[in-house]
Amino acid sequence: MHIRRPIIIANWKLNGGIDLLCSSVVSFIRKHYEAEIVVCPPYIYIRDMLNFLQHSEIRIGSQNVSKFESGAFTGETSAQMLKEAGCKYCLIGHSERRSMFRENNASCQIKVQRALNTGLTPVLCIGENSEERENQITRDVLTRQLAEGLEGLDLKNKSLCIAYEPVWAIGTGKAASPEIAQEVHQFIRQELIALYGADTAEKIRLLYGGSVNKTNAKELLSQPDIDGLLVGGASLDPEHFVNICQQASVQAETQLVTGV
Ligand code: PEP
Repeated sequence: MHIRRPIIIANWKLNGGIDLLCSSVVSFIRKHYEAEIVVCPPYIYIRDMLNFLQHSEIRIGSQNVSKFESGAFTGETSAQMLKEAGCKYCLIGHSERRSMFRENNASCQIKVQRALNTGLTPVLCIGENSEERENQITRDVLTRQLAEGLEGLDLKNKSLCIAYEPVWAIGTGKAASPEIAQEVHQFIRQELIALYGADTAEKIRLLYGGSVNKTNAKELLSQPDIDGLLVGGASLDPEHFVNICQQASVQAETQLVTGV
C-alpha cells in the first residue's frame, strides 16, 4: 500500500496585506513538520512570501492559474510564470472561481494540463452544493467533475491532489462530519481507480476542505481516505493553523510507525 504524506494547504484568498500574512506564519516558520505545509497567498505576495519563508519547509501555492500559455490575455498569470516565481502547487477550480468567475470542468481540465506540463502540482477542487446534496446527486456531480476535469490527462507518475470541498461547508462553519467526508473521499478514490487504475489512484492525495478548524481537524485527518486539509478562514488564525499543522504531523508520524 502506498503511504501518502499528509498535506495542509492554506488558502488565503483575497486577504492581506503582507504584514498580516507574515504574522500568520511567523509562529511556525522555523518548526519542522512531518506533514507537508503549503500556503497560497494572493499572486502579488508570492515572491514576498517566498523570501519570508526561504529558511522554512513551507511551500508556496497559487490560488489559480491561467488556462492560457502566453499572449494578449490581460490580467492572467501562466503556469510557467508561477513555476518560475517558485510555486510548487496551484489550486484549480475552487468553488468561488466556479461560481463567481464562471469556471467550469472544461476550463479546469486545461488548467490541470498546463500545471502538469509545467511541473506544478495541481489541486483540483470539486464538490457539490447544498441543493445537489439535498437532491442526492452528490456522486453524479463528483463523477462528472472528475471525468471532465481530468479528461484525457495522463497522470502516470504525475503529482496531483484532489480537494473535496462541499460548497455548503465552505466558510459556513458547518464542516462535513468525518463520516460523510470519509464516505465521499472513498467514493472519489474508487472513481480515480476506475479512471486510472489502482497504482496511479493510490498516489493521488485527497484533501478535505470546508470549515476546518483546530477542533475538527484531527478526526477528519484520521479517516483512511483523507490525506490532508484545505483550510480557508482558520489558516489566517495562527493559533488554529499551527495547531492543525501539528495534528497533521502527528498523523504523519503515526503513518511512519504503523505503515498505514
Ligand atoms: C476554502 O475556501 O477553500 C475553504 C475551505 O474555506 P473555509 O475553511 O473558510 O471554509
